Amino acid sequence: MGDTVFVLVLNAGSSSLKFNLFDMGKEVSIAEGMAERIGLNDAILACTIDGDKRKETLALPTHREALEAILERLHAGVLHDTPVHAVGHRVVHGGPKYGDSVLVTDEVLHDIEAFAMYAPLHNPANALGIRVAKETFPDVPHVAVFDTAFHHNIPDHARTYGIPYELSQKYGIRRYGFHGTSHAFVAARTAILLCRPLRALKIITCHIGNGTSICAVDHGKSVDTSMGMTPLQGVIMGTRCGTIDPSVVEMLMEYEHLDYAAITDLLNKKSGLLGISGVSSDFREIELAAESGNDRARLARDLLTYNVRQFIGSYATVLDGVDAITFTAGIGTHSTYVRAKVCSKLGFLGVKLDPEANEHGTGERIISTPDSRVVVTVVPTNEELMIARETVR
Ligand code: AMP
Repeated sequence: MGDTVFVLVLNAGSSSLKFNLFDMGKEVSIAEGMAERIGLNDAILACTIDGDKRKETLALPTHREALEAILERLHAGVLHDTPVHAVGHRVVHGGPKYGDSVLVTDEVLHDIEAFAMYAPLHNPANALGIRVAKETFPDVPHVAVFDTAFHHNIPDHARTYGIPYELSQKYGIRRYGFHGTSHAFVAARTAILLCRPLRALKIITCHIGNGTSICAVDHGKSVDTSMGMTPLQGVIMGTRCGTIDPSVVEMLMEYEHLDYAAITDLLNKKSGLLGISGVSSDFREIELAAESGNDRARLARDLLTYNVRQFIGSYATVLDGVDAITFTAGIGTHSTYVRAKVCSKLGFLGVKLDPEANEHGTGERIISTPDSRVVVTVVPTNEELMIARETVR
């Protein structure tokens, strides 16, 4: 495979390990997949290597065995004897310290573990993934790419919460924002679609998937975003509640006799589209149920599109105007309904959706009419490629 650089991108969750192997000479993914249900005897390993899809059930007691199983399959397939030159790790929370990707040192790893205070569901798993990968690839650079980094410099007035200032300072309590690699990627692609420099544009990027966040991108920089100190804030999501009155938490803890773990579980895993609809966290199932007349599924769907519109309206003010609105992630890329519904009440901004382009196109494209004052685009995100690029950089 010549002199090209191979970058392995890893995204470790508590019981999962996603991987993507990039040939960075051509910037193409040559293998990808995911181990799920790690810790169980019937874990699942799905790999697509050289276009060949395989799914197996096997015992993967820990992340170490999962990574070993992935590498075995890579070596039998695309990698042969070619080494991995670098490993890029998705890390959810960079805390107050990291505004850019960094080479992983002992100090960085320690910080990632310490920032579990802000991301208890994510950072411990990310750190575990890094530890295992460093043992497996001790001689190559490992790079941590943070979901929060793109939002690191949002202004104080956009990131400060209305609690006593000393406490915010003491604990680093503030808005951090997430999905940074995705917002950065789709904003850059939107500028290319518009044939205009990113540094000349005001863009609102809408990452609508299982997790959802909206971002105000001013001349290529994030100046506000809907998620907060954790990925729980903002728009309602698959199973996360989004913004609620904090008093709801106190009330539920008291009257439902919930402890910290139970309320965390309820707000993160049982709320959002799932909690409201009682049907599913999966938007395709919500759409089907809504179309067949399920009122709670309709309510969940309406709340999602309403929340997205609220943030777009708000960020048009934050940016003092808007040149482009971009939709990405599973729902943003695929749901013609959501895009049409969100854009239906943005006429005051000068948004004119082209129904044909919205309904029938695929992939990266403009879906507004030529005379729309605001260009609306769909850009499938590619967070893994961004992480690979960051690793090379
Ligand atoms: P993500 O987190 O970006 O993978 O997005 C996952 C979400 O995208 C799930 O709620 C899916 O139901 C939703 N999704 C995926 N494909 C479609 C589709 N064709 N139409 C509507 N929603 C979709």
